[in-house]
Amino acid sequence: MAKTELIHLTRKKKEVGTGSITFDGTTINTAQTAKLLGVIFDPELRWKHQVQQALKRASKTVSALSGLRHLRPIQMRQLYITCAAPVVDYASTVWHNPLKDKTHLRTLNTIQRDILIRILSAFRTTATQALEMEAYVPSTRLRLKRRGQDVVASLFTQPKDHPIHSVLERASRRAVAKGDAARLPIAQVIKTMDMTKLRTLETFDPRPLEPWRPPGLTKNYEARRPLVAQKREHRKALIHEWQQEWQASKNGQYLKRIHEGLPSKRVLRLHNGMSRHQTYFFTQLRLGHNWLSFSAKARRLSDDDKCECGAIETVVHVIVDCPKLSELRRELRTKVGDSFNSVARMLGGWQKNAQGKATQWPINRAGLNAVIEFAEKSQRFWSRTSQRYVAASQQG
Ligand SMILES: [Zn+2]
Repeated sequence: MAKTELIHLTRKKKEVGTGSITFDGTTINTAQTAKLLGVIFDPELRWKHQVQQALKRASKTVSALSGLRHLRPIQMRQLYITCAAPVVDYASTVWHNPLKDKTHLRTLNTIQRDILIRILSAFRTTATQALEMEAYVPSTRLRLKRRGQDVVASLFTQPKDHPIHSVLERASRRAVAKGDAARLPIAQVIKTMDMTKLRTLETFDPRPLEPWRPPGLTKNYEARRPLVAQKREHRKALIHEWQQEWQASKNGQYLKRIHEGLPSKRVLRLHNGMSRHQTYFFTQLRLGHNWLSFSAKARRLSDDDKCECGAIETVVHVIVDCPKLSELRRELRTKVGDSFNSVARMLGGWQKNAQGKATQWPINRAGLNAVIEFAEKSQRFWSRTSQRYVAASQQG
């Protein structure tokens, strides 16, 4: 009896919380929430409690990860993807509607934003989209959408007599029904997919073969669409949508200029092997939010965007032009060689040439290290000690 819970699922306000059941003299009253397999149900099925729980659990994992200070940024990213994101995603096909879920996503986005700021040692003012691009981590919305599609595709591979098929059929009918009645999240996931493809997916029958079957005869397999091919399509669609969002967005203008062709796994190769200390400078150089006066003025932390030499203090000015750093720059030039002609190239990016085609330079590890070393020695990318600067940023 201790495990019995009663909840009344309705969106009619006056019916909520009414009614009770009595068994063997014990009365069970309706509760405001009920937990089933770790998912918190609320009477209106709006999932606020479930999302709050996911947020709390994931924050705990994220703060434990942040405590591991000796980790390299790329390793911390891997741990986030494998340990913290799945905590958020748990049972998302039950509570997340991929077509209409702005409120929950706003809450859940903060988790990813916080950890990416830590991974990249980025300034708190950096746009989330730029952080996601630089760490090659798709947005929570795109991740949940793809997860829903993967789950639905897997459900369609169950044997034809599995009870899930009646649920899927009903959800499929509701996915195409007109009107704006509340729909099951799973029906909304199906709406983002191609039904004919789902119906031609292969079947996995988990039941063992009969031991008395004639020898040599196995199950009758028809040629059907493999599940892996279907999942690969979901991944491709995610990357495509991510790319479109990035191009349409007003955010990340600086990163867009120095790195053509994002999203790209190339950013992972750029960051691979970098220490937290190196990442601190590299992120400032690539994301454009940094300790330089130009960036401070853009963030309204200072009225002055000038360098000591009188020019506007931008990343390009510091690396290429500032006369005060000419001594240090000589060393940089010998180390980076040809790359010195392009700041984008020096920072590991790609840039369009006059014909509009991106020049795909290979990664020059020694060159990247030289630029990071230059940034460190220039002393321009360290905190400028003024209290207001320190308060507005987050240091690695
Ligand atoms: Zn200068």
